[in-house]
Amino acid sequence: MNTHQHIAIIGGGCAGLSAAATLTERGYSVTLFEASSQLGGRARTVVVENKDLLQLLDNGQHILLGAYSATLSLLEKAGVKEEAAFLRLPLQLNMQSSAAKSIFSLKSANYLPAPFNILVGFLFCKGLSFNERITALRFMRHLQSSNYEIINDKPLAKYLKQHKQSPKLVQMLWEPLCLAALNTPIAKASSKIFLNVLRDSFSGSKKDSDFLIPKQDLSQIISHPLAHYIQAKGGSIKLNHRIRTLVEADNGFNLETRQGTFHFSHVIVATSPARTDKLLEQLPKLKASQDKTHHYQYQPIYTVYLRYPSEIKLPQVMSGLSGTLSQWVFDRGTLCGEKGLLAVVVSAEGKHQKLTQDDLALSVAKELKLAFPHLPKPLWHKVIAEKRATFSCVPDLARPTNRTAQNNLYLAGDYTYASYPATIEGAVRSGIYCANLITNAS
Ligand SMILES: Cc1cc2nc3c(=O)[nH]c(=O)nc-3n(C[C@H](O)[C@H](O)[C@H](O)COP(=O)(O)OP(=O)(O)OC[C@H]3O[C@@H](n4cnc5c(N)ncnc54)[C@H](O)[C@@H]3O)c2cc1C
Repeated sequence: MNTHQHIAIIGGGCAGLSAAATLTERGYSVTLFEASSQLGGRARTVVVENKDLLQLLDNGQHILLGAYSATLSLLEKAGVKEEAAFLRLPLQLNMQSSAAKSIFSLKSANYLPAPFNILVGFLFCKGLSFNERITALRFMRHLQSSNYEIINDKPLAKYLKQHKQSPKLVQMLWEPLCLAALNTPIAKASSKIFLNVLRDSFSGSKKDSDFLIPKQDLSQIISHPLAHYIQAKGGSIKLNHRIRTLVEADNGFNLETRQGTFHFSHVIVATSPARTDKLLEQLPKLKASQDKTHHYQYQPIYTVYLRYPSEIKLPQVMSGLSGTLSQWVFDRGTLCGEKGLLAVVVSAEGKHQKLTQDDLALSVAKELKLAFPHLPKPLWHKVIAEKRATFSCVPDLARPTNRTAQNNLYLAGDYTYASYPATIEGAVRSGIYCANLITNAS
């Protein structure tokens, strides 16, 4: 390592935090700049008003997969105990369509090794005809034998049709999984990226397909422990420091903020793609990277929190709804002791974007009442709308590389981890990858 290297990381989301943690543990001098007053970026906890009380809520109900190995080992290094932080559930989907009252459930056969746990799960899943189950099984076998690869990327709806997946199978299984993984409507979503997620979940150890649902606030699980880890290793974190401009200067870069100008030998830009474009404006060599992200489109995620009397519970911690605005509902009482609180996820674009937040909460409460008739009227609601939650994960989306045409300037962020959709894991891996590029060049 060169003692004159001083590395700036712009952005304190999962990508910036993972780059900072990896570099500080290797002894590098690191300063992380975050524009807002808190770390975590799109995976953060916010304070909201609940009548006269202040309440902490995540900006969105997140879920991780057992296959998210980089995130899980980073958090472990930072002292996060998995059992305290997450509820780990073997793959289990419980879907219902409230209109048709039809039910679908799939449970991995956990007594078998992978991939038989999944195949037998498909064979015995509830709510599909025998023929539909056989078609699903054939499709899974096809994916395994082709190592989940396709030559020409195409919208997932088209790909599933080619593989004769019935409308019910699509509606109850593939579409909800696609929305959960890619946050992009199935008619537009990239089959290739969807299959990458399936491969990582289904083709390794059977734990890879587990769901890990946070039992604590996201900040408690991600940004707080990582910030402590970075600072304990000598890294510096500057909150409320928005980088306004980034220019090349004296064997490095000048970063201009409201508080002053800072000079660094290396920079990792770990902001979302929309923000990165602006930051790279004054670095003409980076036009190619900008050209890639310039045409990105974004997808929203709305999280509707509904508070019921504290004795109210759902039959499952996580249930799926199909044919409704509500897609997934999480019982936060069972998960994290916030009794009576349900979090409902409404992801990707759709007609709900035209509703006011109060009307959306009302519609969601009605849908839940149909699916779970024991629910009374909610006592309180709060909608958190993330209008640009993720990039739209469409076929053949150009993704910039972490190494750029500008020496010593790197890009991190979920959008740079090309084989994944926008996920915490993609962001974490991109940060580690940038750290490795710097380490290998030193
Ligand atoms: C509601 C919601 C639900 C989600 N659900 C899931 C899920 O279940 N599972 C999953 O894996 N992923 C999920 N995601 C996606 C996941 O949160 C993101 O992919 C991931 O957090 C992105 O991290 P990042 O570091 O790449 O970017 P970001 O989190 O966007 O971090 C970028 C940071 O840069 C800062 N910044 C921007 N400009 C500047 C500047 N000029 N100077 C300094 N700082 C700057 C921002 O303030 C931000 O903190 C969800 C996202 C949302 C919004």
